[in-house]
Amino acid sequence: MTKPLHTELPLNPHVAGLPPYNAGMNIADAQQKSGRQDIAALASNENPDGCSPHAAAALVGLSPSRYSDPACMALRAALSQKLGVDTDRIVAGNGSEEMIAAICRAVLRPGTLAATVCPGFGLHEIEALANGARVEKVGMRPDLDFDIPAIIAMLERAPAIFFLSSPSNPVGPALDRKGLARILAAVRHETLLVLDEAYFEFTDEDTPHGLAALSATDLSWVVLRTFSKAYGLAGLRVGYAVTSDVRLARAVSAAKTPFNVNAAAQVAAVAALADESWMRSSVARLKRERARVASAVADMGLSAGRSQTNFLFIDVGRESRIVFDHFLSQGIIVKPWKEEGYDTFIRVTIGTPSENDRFLDALRDLIRT
Ligand SMILES: *Cc1c(COP(=O)(O)O)cnc(C)c1O
Repeated sequence: MTKPLHTELPLNPHVAGLPPYNAGMNIADAQQKSGRQDIAALASNENPDGCSPHAAAALVGLSPSRYSDPACMALRAALSQKLGVDTDRIVAGNGSEEMIAAICRAVLRPGTLAATVCPGFGLHEIEALANGARVEKVGMRPDLDFDIPAIIAMLERAPAIFFLSSPSNPVGPALDRKGLARILAAVRHETLLVLDEAYFEFTDEDTPHGLAALSATDLSWVVLRTFSKAYGLAGLRVGYAVTSDVRLARAVSAAKTPFNVNAAAQVAAVAALADESWMRSSVARLKRERARVASAVADMGLSAGRSQTNFLFIDVGRESRIVFDHFLSQGIIVKPWKEEGYDTFIRVTIGTPSENDRFLDALRDLIRT
């Protein structure tokens, strides 16, 4: 029996009208739809190497009956040590995406302006819209790099929040020293700059550290980092926000749920931080593979963003939804891009060498047709 829709119940229109988040297809779904078992999951930028064995070992024997530490003390202390930032300026989240939601809830009001970049990370727009903000987007340049003058022009309008992912998800490049300095010089004191560094660990050696650059300013800012990508803990859900000041950290903390980071995620994140050498060697392998895949893609005559991440954003020159089905039929999940002007692009995660070979074979197949 079909249930009635209860259209007379008033819903929050800001939330009920949200666009869907473009999540990567999950593996079970892909197995069912493709009829294949050997799925190469290359849509969500997870780490194909897994995680540090110390992080995995920390999960063994955990008791699920106790609440987790609502303050995430051990994790925040470890982060404070690593980053040289006081504990009370760090907020841990159920993934950095929860921090995006909490920041929006702490700062935005209906009608205020929030801004970000297009193409961009969906939640930078969705969480702002959920709080009733107006969202405006600055385009990337046609050559797939940041449009610094356009970002500056938007910042001069003093949006309440500017979300900027550097390295960019989905495009891949990171701001260089000069670009970052020009942007920071344009941020007004009425604006919260949120620099999302989900792919920080994959950047080039000479790419500036956002945290250091922002720390040298008197602006209001947040730097977001995550354990989901380089550290390989996506399924546990843990990330964090480093804030410019304690007042902002308190507001973000008040806007999250109290026991937001579960006990397993807290101990695994602490163990992962204590074993950075695992992360660094995995990142080094993935960067080598990224270079190999990028040069094979270039050899096919396709253009792609200059990536400092664990993925590539590739213009395949035909509708990405159809391209998605081509890859899925071969057991490969990619992310078809759906933002206007970019619907011939796919984003593909760097996987294991054999997954990457499968992707490249399927891509060669595609462009021959
Ligand atoms: C993956 C990603 C996140 C979310 O990471 P979680 O910590 O898993 O919530 C945030 N921002 C960007 C740009 C990402 O690509």
